[in-house]
Amino acid sequence: MQQLLDQIVKECAPLSEAGHVADYIPELAKANPKSFGAAVTDKDGKQWASGDADETFCLESIAKVVSLALALQLRGFDDVFDRVGRSAIADPFNSIMRLEMDSPHRPHNPMINSGAIVVVSLLPQEGVEAKIGAVLELCAVLSGQKIAEVVERVYLSEKFTSDRNRALAYFLRSVGSLEGDVEDTLDVYFRMCSIGTTAKQLSVLGATLACNGRNPLTGQDVISPTVARTVRALMMTCGMYDGSGEFAVDVGIPAKSGVGGGIVGTVPGRAGLAVYGPSLDERGNSVAGVAAMKRLSLEGGFRVI
Ligand code: GLN
Repeated sequence: MQQLLDQIVKECAPLSEAGHVADYIPELAKANPKSFGAAVTDKDGKQWASGDADETFCLESIAKVVSLALALQLRGFDDVFDRVGRSAIADPFNSIMRLEMDSPHRPHNPMINSGAIVVVSLLPQEGVEAKIGAVLELCAVLSGQKIAEVVERVYLSEKFTSDRNRALAYFLRSVGSLEGDVEDTLDVYFRMCSIGTTAKQLSVLGATLACNGRNPLTGQDVISPTVARTVRALMMTCGMYDGSGEFAVDVGIPAKSGVGGGIVGTVPGRAGLAVYGPSLDERGNSVAGVAAMKRLSLEGGFRVI
């Protein structure tokens, strides 16, 4: 496994040249486009890592996996899926178009920005600090860390350059699809996107989902098997935004990407895979990361479908 991972990382890293780091959030533009790393954690807690697998980056959209798991766990399936759909769409992650056209004006799934904003608003804790505290805590136990932390400079950068997310949230509120304080909800959303992680830590998060909610490093039952299965299903159908269909065909693993450059994959009953490469394709997915996931899936025998 180590040999395969080293080879894949070495051969996929140069593909980063074909993409660009996200620059619509100024702090993300400072990432080194050449960074590249990958990690695997299996169901027994065994780990392999290669390249920049310990470099810190932000979860960005991968945080949507954590907020969804938390909301499902605490609010139940009916409450969550009354407000957010479960359908795959082929629009960009921050698109507003279909939200306005469709009635009811309900986000299509929890893996796009509008859906995650509604999911955050459903978290039952009172206030910003309590809500983000719960997200951070779940993030830490899912990935086997003592603590998870917000990268302050990225959070502030997101907060002050977030016209599109503000537009989504205020539109949702105007049509009665978002309750509670809209700025507080956005603040929790920006903070959770800015949670720091590494490929190694993310691979543990993927492995916990793969093991039906039991963290294979700590042995802790973190989320219920039904929640883990539901999150995996939504990763498979919606986790790579408008690239989800292609990713399902080419890679065949439930996965979630973020514009920070991470991708986490979860192979039920077997392993969690993670890659980090901040140079992105036009959909916001790591260029070298998608290529590496494809090779890991095929050559590592991780393909699920
Ligand atoms: N924080 C980012 C945003 O809201 C997350 C998007 C992403 O990773 N695709 O735009």
